[in-house]
Amino acid sequence: MALLPVPEALSRILNAVAPLSTEEISIHDALGRVLAEDAKATLTQPPFDASAMDGYAVRFEDIADPLTVVGESQAGCSYDGVVGPGETVRIFTGAPMAKGADTVIIQENVTRDGDQVIVNEAKNKGANIRAAGGDFKYDEVLVEASTKLNSKHIALLAAGNVAALTVYKQPRVAVLSTGDELKDVGSEIGPDQIVNSNVPMFMALVKEHGGIPTNIGTARDTEEDVRAKIREVKDFDIFVSIGGVSVGDYDIIQDVLREEGLEVDFWKVAMQPGKPIVFGDFNGIHYFGMPGNPSSAYVCFANFMLPAMNKMQGMGEAGFPLSHARLEHSLKPGGTRVNYLRAFVSENGLGEQTVSAKLTQSSANLSPLAKSNCLLIREIDAPAAEAGDLVKIVLIDR
Ligand code: AMP
Ligand code: MG
Repeated sequence: MALLPVPEALSRILNAVAPLSTEEISIHDALGRVLAEDAKATLTQPPFDASAMDGYAVRFEDIADPLTVVGESQAGCSYDGVVGPGETVRIFTGAPMAKGADTVIIQENVTRDGDQVIVNEAKNKGANIRAAGGDFKYDEVLVEASTKLNSKHIALLAAGNVAALTVYKQPRVAVLSTGDELKDVGSEIGPDQIVNSNVPMFMALVKEHGGIPTNIGTARDTEEDVRAKIREVKDFDIFVSIGGVSVGDYDIIQDVLREEGLEVDFWKVAMQPGKPIVFGDFNGIHYFGMPGNPSSAYVCFANFMLPAMNKMQGMGEAGFPLSHARLEHSLKPGGTRVNYLRAFVSENGLGEQTVSAKLTQSSANLSPLAKSNCLLIREIDAPAAEAGDLVKIVLIDR
């Protein structure tokens, strides 16, 4: 069977998934959530003309002569009079501008003696005033729909007195591993056993990208055990199983899943690592069957599962950002599958990105994956490349 090209596999996945429904949440729970509607200001900010500095509120036309201090305006408590000819009001940062005055002179630029103030230096009329609405106005869109909220957005929304937000629901992701050799991290590891590293990785990946992961556990490589575990997979948006999707005698998960309702959309993609990936529908849940080698599973996540999770959260169809960098060394011609080399991108002294893929590329090894910050894409039949050539990279640490 011909291997499915990567773009075709991705477009089949993106056709199958749709944004999840929405829910209303408190701004205090909104970090990392994705807005489903534009969020608008419920007030104007600043609500009034305010002083930007500590100093004196004056009528600019009066400053050539000594001024008399007639009152004070502080943050939270304005001066309730009107500044008349020859008068000034002591004012502090954030305080409402005194009526009648049009300029604030910073305190460093005056000499004060009792209630008399002499202005020694002034900028222009209107200086040091934050105009009402200078930040944003009532009903203005503060943050647009489809934005993933960060701390800056949350501050802005709070300033606009937006306490509740409509966001997309988070994808609920079931994570199942398979393999007689696997033991949970922290257990005693027997002579034929290895630590299950993929489940902690997927739990972390799902959380990192806005989902809610549930560990279904590890199924032994027997039909009964796989069947028992997959019966627990209900009420999820995504089901990801790890391992057992190749063609070995113990790679049984696909057969058992089919008996339990899996409809396979595709199996095997023209990529390296990650060729044996399976995608389908498991009783209304999007199913990803990931290969067991950790780097393969990671590359499949980056290429396929992340764009699906992003789309479900209303963020469009992109995954990790793509970029370009200059090769630090030569590369052999590309092969019959797209190769995703674990690589490290950095910036040279000229502000250019350069990339090195001089890391061990075995898909079973985790140390090169942990050292990498990008994947270098080698297209099918790409010609040999030299140091200095521009190549395409996926920025996996963004
Ligand atoms: P499989 O896809 O089941 O043939 O597994 C391929 C390789 O990945 C084997 O060396 C497995 O031991 C290893 N492997 C499978 N699942 C995991 C896991 N959850 N954590 C770490 N390694 C795994
Ligand atoms: Mg296995």
